[in-house]
Amino acid sequence: MWDEAWGERAHCRSSDPDALFVQGAAQHEAKKVCHGCPVRTECLAEALDGRIEFGVWGGLTERERRALLRRRPTVVSWRVLLETARAEHVTMTGPVAADLAVRAG
Ligand code: SF4
Repeated sequence: MWDEAWGERAHCRSSDPDALFVQGAAQHEAKKVCHGCPVRTECLAEALDGRIEFGVWGGLTERERRALLRRRPTVVSWRVLLETARAEHVTMTGPVAADLAVRAG
């Protein structure tokens, strides 16, 4: 089930927001906060659908998100794609299901 109020359950909610908006390789360290975040899928969909350019969202760096958008230029709604992927792979969550959906094309 999609969490409309996902921000309330974000792992990063209690951490310094600026920590997710570091540059370059530091983003790989910053995104560790996303591991196990219960709303990772919602967060990633928000960033992809909103074409948010900067920062770590949904466990992906801005560069990783750009690459994903380039690989799937025809996706109209990442939310629909990720929500469907999660429903079809109920034992998986977050980017794992998303990756499967992306690869399945
Ligand atoms: S996935 Fe990462 S950036 Fe998104 S809400 Fe969770 S901890 Fe924050």
